[in-house]
Amino acid sequence: MTHEVVLIPGDGIGPEVSDAVCQVLERAGAPISWATHQAGLAALDEGGDVLPDTTLDAIRRTGVALKGPCTTPVGEGFTSVNVKLRKTLDLYAAVRPVRNLAGVASRYDDVDLVVVRENTEGLYSGVENEITAGVVTSLKVATDAACTRIARWAFRYAKSRGRKKVTVFHKANIMKLTDGLFLRSAARVHAEEDADVEFESVIIDAGCMKMVQNPAQFDVLLMENLYGDVVSDLCAGLVGGLGVVPGANFGDERAVFEAVHGSAPDIAGENRANPLALLMSAVMMLNHLGETRGDEACRASAERIRTAYDGALGAGDRTRDIGGELGTSEFAQALIRRL
Ligand code: ATP
Repeated sequence: MTHEVVLIPGDGIGPEVSDAVCQVLERAGAPISWATHQAGLAALDEGGDVLPDTTLDAIRRTGVALKGPCTTPVGEGFTSVNVKLRKTLDLYAAVRPVRNLAGVASRYDDVDLVVVRENTEGLYSGVENEITAGVVTSLKVATDAACTRIARWAFRYAKSRGRKKVTVFHKANIMKLTDGLFLRSAARVHAEEDADVEFESVIIDAGCMKMVQNPAQFDVLLMENLYGDVVSDLCAGLVGGLGVVPGANFGDERAVFEAVHGSAPDIAGENRANPLALLMSAVMMLNHLGETRGDEACRASAERIRTAYDGALGAGDRTRDIGGELGTSEFAQALIRRL
């Protein structure tokens, strides 16, 4: 059995890390056939839309995609491709597992948490208006439906993975309506789901302090869109940086796997990017295919890749962002030798 998966290489460091990941997956015998489609600057370069319909249709058809980062212009230009993709395909649950990796130095050695981020509304939507010259507003949207479904997703995820606690980070003391709805929905779902999972709520500023004091106190973290974006990067900093944190965006029918990091234009084209975050996202993808399509070969190749990068990191084969000396392609080759 071979699974057709859409590959979006992205831009910036995207093509380098995607190339490395595809080589590793091929060597590991992952039963994947790639359908490559563009989005972001690469799509514009080809004279198309920033998020072409052909790319969206391909993901609708295959149900699964692996996506490299796409640049979002700062303070001007087109709206984020990443946001548009998640909204158009209704990929409402972003999941970012954050764990220490053996061989990757960090301030902590006991981090094992999962950030679950609501992906479709909240302040991150970028719904902004200029009321009059010098006065602009940004709209934060929360709906009962979206708050409830992400809470349900988080509690079911926690239960299915044997996780013990879901903590909501919020600011319901200030945003009493929007964050209030998010918080109340989570509390209601916790009661309804009757899961053997503890529920906790923490005001986000205090939550960030607690996080850097003792990240091991957290298990699954649930939050709205913008908080999830910020806290994901904070959590990445606890375990070695953006080069080692994978992610996935789930809807009810489709899933797009992508690293937490962006297109890192500062190091693009220099063979310096760490492909591990995208590779770990691909491992999540293989496990997802294994789970949803009952294909043992997917799970087996995921396990081989995990063993290979654990071994490589332990042996000191690392890219520069995590204290090593290898370039993107040399690190990929080190994994391929182990496979
Ligand atoms: P975006 O807003 O698009 O998510 P960002 O502001 O989070 O982007 P990134 O592009 O992720 O920024 O980069 C932030 C920093 O982390 C940069 O200095 C970049 O070089 C570094 N970085 C990001 N990803 C990697 C990677 N895979 N390997 C090495 N360094 C990385």
